[in-house]
Amino acid sequence: MKRVVLAGLFIIIIGCFLTACKFQDNIKTKEEAEGAVSGTFRGEAKEQEEYILVEVMLQKNQISHIEILKHNETPGFEKAMTQLIDDIVAKNSIEVDAVSGATKTSKRFLKAVENAITAAGITSKDLPPIEELSNKADEKSSKIDCDILIIGAGGAGLSAAIEARSEGDDRVVLLEKMSFGGGNTRMSGGEYAAPGNWVQTSLGIEDSEDLFFKDIYEGGNKKGNKDLINIVVQNALPNAYWLRDFVGVEYKDYQSWYGGHTVSRTLWPVGDGPKYVDTLIDKAVELGANIHYNTRAEEFIVNEEGKVIGVRAKRSGKIIEYIAEKGVILATGGFGANVEMRMKYDTRWNGLDESIPTTNSPAIVGDGLIMAEKAGANFIGLGDIQLYPINNPATGNYYFMDYARLNSNALLVNKNGKRFVDEKDTRDRLSNAMLKQPDAKVYELIDSQVIQDMKLELLYENEIVKCYEQGVLVRGSLQDCCDYFDLPLEKVKKTINRFNSFAEKGKDEDFGRTKNLEKIGDDTYYMFSCIVSVHHTMGGVEIDTHARVIGKDGKPIKGLYAAGEVTGGIHGENRLGSLSMPDTVTFGRIAAQSAKTMK
Ligand code: ADP
Repeated sequence: MKRVVLAGLFIIIIGCFLTACKFQDNIKTKEEAEGAVSGTFRGEAKEQEEYILVEVMLQKNQISHIEILKHNETPGFEKAMTQLIDDIVAKNSIEVDAVSGATKTSKRFLKAVENAITAAGITSKDLPPIEELSNKADEKSSKIDCDILIIGAGGAGLSAAIEARSEGDDRVVLLEKMSFGGGNTRMSGGEYAAPGNWVQTSLGIEDSEDLFFKDIYEGGNKKGNKDLINIVVQNALPNAYWLRDFVGVEYKDYQSWYGGHTVSRTLWPVGDGPKYVDTLIDKAVELGANIHYNTRAEEFIVNEEGKVIGVRAKRSGKIIEYIAEKGVILATGGFGANVEMRMKYDTRWNGLDESIPTTNSPAIVGDGLIMAEKAGANFIGLGDIQLYPINNPATGNYYFMDYARLNSNALLVNKNGKRFVDEKDTRDRLSNAMLKQPDAKVYELIDSQVIQDMKLELLYENEIVKCYEQGVLVRGSLQDCCDYFDLPLEKVKKTINRFNSFAEKGKDEDFGRTKNLEKIGDDTYYMFSCIVSVHHTMGGVEIDTHARVIGKDGKPIKGLYAAGEVTGGIHGENRLGSLSMPDTVTFGRIAAQSAKTMK
């Protein structure tokens, strides 16, 4: 399952642009002749309990990077801040629109950036508009040569870069359109499903590749490509060791379970997605890969033989041509944050318009698919868009507290106080069932025993505080919970009694739930409201087992490889939780090996 940044921490350290460069407090080198300022400057914005601390990097009055050092905004709102960073860097201006739904956070963030600029001894008026800068810059587009060019520094792109630099001396360049790497992988928990993993072994959980295959295939409604699934199945465990022992990802000593998996087999990195991504970035950079941030790939460069030999990209309004001797790897992620594309391709949900939020990074808008279409790539399963069921209506992002439902016992009830689903079902079926409930809104109920056993208050204290403020969470007696959300108390009581009778019998006669079929207690509860969000796009470019992109004529497009969410075919109609990491790592590595060795 992909999860938002934070994991109980207030401090987030967003992936380091120029990783080798350590930011220091307000250091500046004045370009006296031009009267322009270069250096890094800190700015803070405080408002009652809220605060944001940023570091702004200026290069001759041009904002080249903004790093969020600390904040205590709502989990999920860092997405709004990263979108603002992108806009500010692209325009070299703080006159950018607030992100809708996060206006207060946007204002605070812009204030923090403005304060950093003031600390540099200039004002926002001294920032030349980007058009002016690009006019001043070399009129001609510049050209950069490399051996392997990777587009997108997310989970797949970074795995490809590490693999490509692990052996040999290929010049590896990664293009990343944001000012930091990570995409949806950074937003996630970094969870990694691997059958036979070391935590399973220590717990005596039996698992096998066959069982893993069956879960993935059936989870995708038997629509996934068996050859591609097999590749993931066979490589999941070796790549978990690769991540741990070669890349340096640290894993927790417990694991997790997600809907559709027959057994618990999901490893969980310390520090979730953010630390996972930063570890990958550090390794890629240590091995000599070059990451070009704020550089957006726009179109492939194709030679007269139809071979993809590079891309045309844009940075600060300037076109740069990247030419790759050996191959180009597309790793730009999916299109969950692109409402237009969702509306165009969705075949299942009957309209995924802007009223349905997304758990995705704002960067995940299908750029790679648009580029690949022009290059003649074939697409698979674009209509299969995954919704995630249990999200906070105030942010559109997951609840960490939902860990209780996944790994222990919780009930989901609708506005009429009724259960409507097996709470342990796949995210696909849960979302489907949720959309059919009144107002497509449901409520998760967790009893005090589970709260205690799962240490929810300790683990998710920050989330809980935020959720109270947002008015999406209540703690108290059943009466308190029902009053708060205006649910019919007697009906909820009846629902609990019925469920408890199933728990006693060991049979859920309504929805067939088998996992954690345990009684719900009767003293104090947590209840929070939930809506669905767009989470993952299963479809994308067709690839073969070598990660070569297949063209509309059924043949590989020379020079072009792809990995990760930009590809289609692996997860069929539904991706199970914690399969994104084994997929991105496996095909990222294969794409790099293919680009190195294939013609
Ligand atoms: P995956 O899980 O498939 O690796 P992610 O969402 O983790 O996908 O990462 C995709 C990355 O690609 C993100 O960091 C995103 O900013 C980047 N990206 C998307 N489009 C472009 C583009 N046109 N040029 C450069 N980088 C891009």
